Amino acid sequence: MGIAIEGVTDGSIPHVLMVSFAGQGHLNPLLRFAKRIAAKGLLVTLCSTDDIGYRISSSTGDSALGVPKPVGRGFIRFEFFSDGLPVDDPGRKDLDVLMPAIGSTGPPALVDLIRRQADAGFPVSCIVNNPFLPWALDVAADMGIPGGVLWIQSCAVFTTYYSYYHSLAEFPTEDNPDVTVNLPGLPPMKPEELPTFLLPSSRFKSARKVILEQFGNVSKASWVFANSFEKLERETIDAISHRLQVIPVGPLVEPDDKSQSSIRGDLFKVADCMYWLDAQAPSSVVYVSVGSVVVLSEEEMSELAWGLRKCSRPFLWVVRRDTQALLPEGFIEEAGDRGLVVEWSPQDLVLAHPAVACFVTHCGWNSTLEALTAGVPVVTYPQWGDQVPDSKFLVEVYGVGVRLRAPATRDEVERCVEAVTQGEGAEAIKARAAEWKEAAARAVEEGGSSDRHIQSFVDEIKKRASCSGDIAAV
Ligand code: UDP
Repeated sequence: MGIAIEGVTDGSIPHVLMVSFAGQGHLNPLLRFAKRIAAKGLLVTLCSTDDIGYRISSSTGDSALGVPKPVGRGFIRFEFFSDGLPVDDPGRKDLDVLMPAIGSTGPPALVDLIRRQADAGFPVSCIVNNPFLPWALDVAADMGIPGGVLWIQSCAVFTTYYSYYHSLAEFPTEDNPDVTVNLPGLPPMKPEELPTFLLPSSRFKSARKVILEQFGNVSKASWVFANSFEKLERETIDAISHRLQVIPVGPLVEPDDKSQSSIRGDLFKVADCMYWLDAQAPSSVVYVSVGSVVVLSEEEMSELAWGLRKCSRPFLWVVRRDTQALLPEGFIEEAGDRGLVVEWSPQDLVLAHPAVACFVTHCGWNSTLEALTAGVPVVTYPQWGDQVPDSKFLVEVYGVGVRLRAPATRDEVERCVEAVTQGEGAEAIKARAAEWKEAAARAVEEGGSSDRHIQSFVDEIKKRASCSGDIAAV
């Protein structure tokens, strides 16, 4: 497919290709990174698999994803490639099905896609991929194109996996399951505070394998970016940087005023809940979401529902279509005007709304950063993977919330919501949340720590592109 770029008048633009794994938690930070880079004057093509193209088009109504859209001084467009499975194959939810399929189809498809960019007059100057697709770095290296990686979880979790992969510390084993892990730049981590995939008892062996594979070839990356910021994880970043330089470029959170762009990568159709929020009192609403993957049990859904009903506050609850049947019968009718249940929300906008008082979250890293950036107190309800350490950091290190222990009960839901919204303890939590909001804004503003890192990367790409003659004549 040819690329036409209307409005490019200076006759040249360096081109960065970003490759995302098919998941909302992967796509959002990479797209936000793409916007910040594009805004500084580059063309960014964000590519992922065909099913993702289909889902973004269906949910956003944008059928021209391949057409470059202006973002600041640059442009963004999408491209898609096959993961080897039919677009509507439900089998791709299973990593044991998806990973071998994409592992064999993805690399040649990516090579082909890169060649087509050059043929169209826009050779790729750099490739950036996110976790679960380590082969993208191999493709970049084989084609002589510099490669980077965007780590989409915390630097604390990066350090933990990296140290496990390279056997740099003692971790729990079947014979010795109670080991506390001590890593430089991190507080001691008890087994129940580690990413659960590393526990010998974890049932998700495929997830562990897929995550750890990243660390096999990360040394091929010219840049390892992280969705974090210096003030948030300075000690951890400094400690790991003795082995590998990690460049914090976050929080990659919207709304981002600088990019002035409405391009979104929602995989679910976003419900209009802003009108409802506008009608609520300031700092009154409990917002609840467990992200794009977590499925709570019927019992937990029921306790959460009646717990929300017990809190004398309005609530906005994201219950994805695949989990709506788990809601207690009659709950939505019973909640009436006081509660709004939607299949998907514009979460970044919701958290930034003044009506929101607190966020009951599963602690995915994007949700964690979005809460910190918005200065919203949290009730944490982690399920697995990095959500568990993220919850620890939110509560014990960043001091912006309390943990709801699993399995949730309605009384505990009510108690936790009260703990972060009312009384002296809540005031201290709100004050810390406001400080993190300020720190996050400082990091991404012009000249802030993350903005400087992004600017250096863009300058380097522009320099390399002009030296190698990669810049296209339009
Ligand atoms: N999200 C959203 N609307 C919702 C729920 C989630 O836009 O109703 C977004 C959220 O803002 C975040 C992403 O989906 O950027 C979820 O990523 P996260 O890392 O928090 O969790 P995951 O879905 O990967 O478990």
